[in-house]
Amino acid sequence: MAIDFSCDLHMHSTYSDGGGTIEDMAKSAIEKGLTTIAITDHMPLPFKPWYSVDMDKIQAYRNEIDRVRTLYGHKLTILTGLEIEYMPEISDWIESIVDLGWDFLIASVHGLLIDNSQYLINENEEEFNKTLNIVFNGDIRAFCRQYYHFIQQAASTGVCNSIGHLDVIKKYNQSNRYFDEKSPWYREIVEETLDVIKAHHLKMEINTAGFIHPIGQAYPSTWIIKSAIKRGIPIVMGSDSHAPETLGQYFEQARDLVCALKKNLIPPL
Ligand SMILES: [Zn+2]
Ligand SMILES: [Zn+2]
Repeated sequence: MAIDFSCDLHMHSTYSDGGGTIEDMAKSAIEKGLTTIAITDHMPLPFKPWYSVDMDKIQAYRNEIDRVRTLYGHKLTILTGLEIEYMPEISDWIESIVDLGWDFLIASVHGLLIDNSQYLINENEEEFNKTLNIVFNGDIRAFCRQYYHFIQQAASTGVCNSIGHLDVIKKYNQSNRYFDEKSPWYREIVEETLDVIKAHHLKMEINTAGFIHPIGQAYPSTWIIKSAIKRGIPIVMGSDSHAPETLGQYFEQARDLVCALKKNLIPPL
């Protein structure tokens, strides 16, 4: 299945935590020769964290995407999207947002909700450690298992189109500081998650923001991309841009990686 590297289906505008307006993102996409973008700001959350779209502004957000589409739609396909932040405790809230109707929804897990407090996974390493130590007593296996369990639940809801940054739990795992991806326990939970993604007909994103994160590589890892391709899971590209300049960032590297994988030129691990 061919991957369309002219589509960037993951980005944030000033409606959530991005630095550019929706119009800035569209203009930059056209300059960079992209053919399709999905505006996927962080969905509103009941506890209103700093990084998500305000629920009061959700209609304005949708209207603004429509307005920009009327201006640039002849040059660029613009999808009205959101990055859904899956947490089982707020599934009714999520459903009410999904019901508004969207072109493209990403299912991501960024954190856990414990006693109404949010414990984040990929905000910064200090937060990651706090979640690991306070919620999981330092047990990285339990942390990873819970993370992938939530991804599986998010996929099972069947309301999203794609899984975002599948293995973002490795964000600070440079030099295997927290776990070894080759460990059977880790590989098992990831493979099981890919089975669930396949069973629910979701796409999987190659998220190139990982190249500028501490781990310095795409999400997910090469062996996971290979395993997804083998299962016939459709793959989409997402730069997870928070600024117009980074649209399509590292897509060339991702293309080279996928080509090499398909030709068996690089070992998956
Ligand atoms: Zn995300
Ligand atoms: Zn994002």
